[in-house]
Amino acid sequence: MDIKLLYLTLEENFFERMTKKIPFSFIGKKVIVFDLDGTIVRLVADWHLLKKALAARFTEKSREDVTHKSISAILSRIVEKGDEEELQLNFNLMRQYELENITSNEPIKETVYFINNKELFGVSPNVKLAVFSLNFRSTILKSLEMAGILEKFEFFVGREDVRRWKPDPDGLLMILDYFKVNLEEMIYFGDLEKDLSAGASAGVESYYIDTLINHVRNKKKS
Ligand SMILES: [Mg+2]
Repeated sequence: MDIKLLYLTLEENFFERMTKKIPFSFIGKKVIVFDLDGTIVRLVADWHLLKKALAARFTEKSREDVTHKSISAILSRIVEKGDEEELQLNFNLMRQYELENITSNEPIKETVYFINNKELFGVSPNVKLAVFSLNFRSTILKSLEMAGILEKFEFFVGREDVRRWKPDPDGLLMILDYFKVNLEEMIYFGDLEKDLSAGASAGVESYYIDTLINHVRNKKKS
């Protein structure tokens, strides 16, 4: 199949899933993947300030204006230049910034409830949990530890683990490869459009976390 056509087909299925198949089913699922920020916890950090600092650093070194680019886009320019050392320096700055702000994290109680009681939602006890996030692995681990759910998770893909970031699907493909499962055995929850785009590009069923949050609220009511 023509690659363009394949993407179109994936997109179509993706919107069909978004509109029709709610609530979703966990039947046949072996791996549940979550984004971190806005999905499991709310990280309290000034991302705009961090982006401004990274943009200023890049512009000073490369004389190229990246003021209007996202953090991932700035990092992608560094990757394109092949400057791994500069990439690691940026990673260090970002990691430090995330960890400095971590104490004011707020867990999202419905997601945490779901993770602690997943069998109540028709999830098999053997299902594995993973995180696919744009935050660093240290932030992921610390956040999950603070929410008391670290031991529920087996695998983590953070900012430093890929060189093409969401909406690229690389992180999801890494998770797929780690667990050696099929596309249809995995389900992904995130809070942003780039999460769902990553899912669609990987061919993995993906939903906004609000769908799961509403599902948890309804279940608790009944
Ligand atoms: Mg998020």
